[in-house]
Amino acid sequence: MKIAVIGGGWAGLAAAVELTAAGAETTLFEAGRVLGGRARGVEIDGRKLDNGQHILLGAYRETLALIRRVGADPDQLFDRRPLQVIDNSGFRLALAKLPAPLNVACGLLSASGVSLGEKLRTALWMDGIKRRGFRLAQEMTVSQWLDEAGQTGALRRHLWEPLCLAALNTPAERASAQLFANVLRDSLGSARREDTDLLLPRVDLGQVLPEPAGHWLREHGADIRLGVRVGQVTEVDGGIEIDGESFAAAILATAPQHLGALWPAAATSFTYEPIATIYLQFSPGMKSAFPLRNHLGGQGQWVVDRGDGLFACVLSGHGDWEALDDTGLAATLENELASPDKASWHKVIREKRATFSARPGLLRPDGKTSNPRLFLAGDHTWADYPATLEGAVRSGLRAGLWAAMATRP
Ligand SMILES: Cc1cc2nc3c(=O)[nH]c(=O)nc-3n(C[C@H](O)[C@H](O)[C@H](O)COP(=O)(O)OP(=O)(O)OC[C@H]3O[C@@H](n4cnc5c(N)ncnc54)[C@H](O)[C@@H]3O)c2cc1C
Repeated sequence: MKIAVIGGGWAGLAAAVELTAAGAETTLFEAGRVLGGRARGVEIDGRKLDNGQHILLGAYRETLALIRRVGADPDQLFDRRPLQVIDNSGFRLALAKLPAPLNVACGLLSASGVSLGEKLRTALWMDGIKRRGFRLAQEMTVSQWLDEAGQTGALRRHLWEPLCLAALNTPAERASAQLFANVLRDSLGSARREDTDLLLPRVDLGQVLPEPAGHWLREHGADIRLGVRVGQVTEVDGGIEIDGESFAAAILATAPQHLGALWPAAATSFTYEPIATIYLQFSPGMKSAFPLRNHLGGQGQWVVDRGDGLFACVLSGHGDWEALDDTGLAATLENELASPDKASWHKVIREKRATFSARPGLLRPDGKTSNPRLFLAGDHTWADYPATLEGAVRSGLRAGLWAAMATRP
């Protein structure tokens, strides 16, 4: 049975693997020259980098399982560390290597720069959220949620707001409290200690999933067509035509802004948030005490030490930084890092529509369409999560399964 997947990002790759494993003849169309979509490796000035610095969580179970399924080893690919939030003001919260929930309780109680009263109030608040299954009585913004909970002290500025921006790519003032609660449920609220770990890729993103998945798919007979932008998707009797070629079923795994051109009924009216990654090369000896540091008060938000003096500074969501040109942005961040050393090289990569804006009450498609042989995949269709790799992978596996079932004789 021939089944088409349009879009070779992490959702499309997950769908293609699921379909191929179920015995389908899979054709994967990808407009770009490489697989990976918004999470891909790029080569710049002979360096293997990413289109944007990504950080995974131990809670990304389906993503880690997919990486293993296509023959790669997450233990080799990632630097796995217990969650720590450290910033340039001296704030530090580090989870202990203890079974959950003791790891979170001890981390909170030993946080520096926070009064004991605030720590205890926060522990009680978190316990209450957990007892309510991380379900909010009504949708609101993260800022409103924190206000309502009396979370107005140091932890708001140093922990909750930076975590919200990092996880939802949307500032607390306009981010969905329910989506943030879902992220907390599967990380800080999880019964598995490993779910709270941060996973920093040791290699470029292409080597994490897109390349191993591409090899696996080709080895299992899938047809991968790179550099092919699909222009037309048509309903026909018993199937779907993609630019005039017949398939028994199809999965549209493009980013939401590209869906309307292919299937107008699936068009969304989302707004988007940008992300910029600024790579700065210092001398190889320069190191950060922790590979991921939060930078408050300046333009840069998260700073990742990629080793050998290469630093990736991440700026999430709309902000003043967008008005700076690349040279100005690199110079500002170099200044903020206050290195004794001058950067010998820099590169700024801006993703203008990095993710949809995760606002309260956002209506999201659920993966099915009016045609029983046409399905949607992509981070935007996994309504339980904000735009994440895990949401993309879960949506792709689900769509793959549905398409395989829909075409079963
Ligand atoms: C800079 C940046 C940093 C991020 N950081 C994190 C992070 O730290 N952690 C995290 O979990 N998530 C992060 N994300 C979000 C994550 O990358 C996305 O949620 C995920 O990659 C989305 O995957 P997808 O497959 O749903 O969509 P996409 O990756 O957008 O894939 C869609 C694919 O469809 C292709 N396509 C579109 N139209 C056509 C067509 N007509 N024909 C053929 N192909 C087509 C596109 O070329 C693309 O490859 C980040 C995103 C960015 C941009």
